[in-house]
Amino acid sequence: MIPEQAFAELRAVYDRLAVALEPYQRHCAARGICCDFAKCGHMLYVTGLEAAEMLRSGVHVDRDLIKQGSCPFLRGKQCGIRDHRAIGCRLYYCDRTYEEERNALCETFLKEVRAIEAKYGIEHTYKPVTEAFP
Ligand code: SF4
Repeated sequence: MIPEQAFAELRAVYDRLAVALEPYQRHCAARGICCDFAKCGHMLYVTGLEAAEMLRSGVHVDRDLIKQGSCPFLRGKQCGIRDHRAIGCRLYYCDRTYEEERNALCETFLKEVRAIEAKYGIEHTYKPVTEAFP
């Protein structure tokens, strides 16, 4: 059972990430392509704590979408769990012009998530979002 405080600390990480991302904001045309992994040829990964936070959205894990190669939380062309989405989701844009900065931000903020997981004894995993909800 993951303590409430761990989720509160994770949300604080997401808030800090939002501030760190401000200088790099990229346009999102809400095409839904980046979360349709089979189509776009990439994958987003989530830690165990992030996956648990995604489940807390209460949104159904759509296994048909997983079979089709999409994120189970994609609804139409938009994220069905926007406030609960993981670091990878928050950092990824089709526009890849800030790739170097994005990778650095990912490393920095994932370290913070791992620190929370270590602090609360949460097993550290890092899985494709299509495999994180068995
Ligand atoms: S959680 Fe949302 S943003 Fe992340 S991969 Fe799924 S649909 Fe896309």
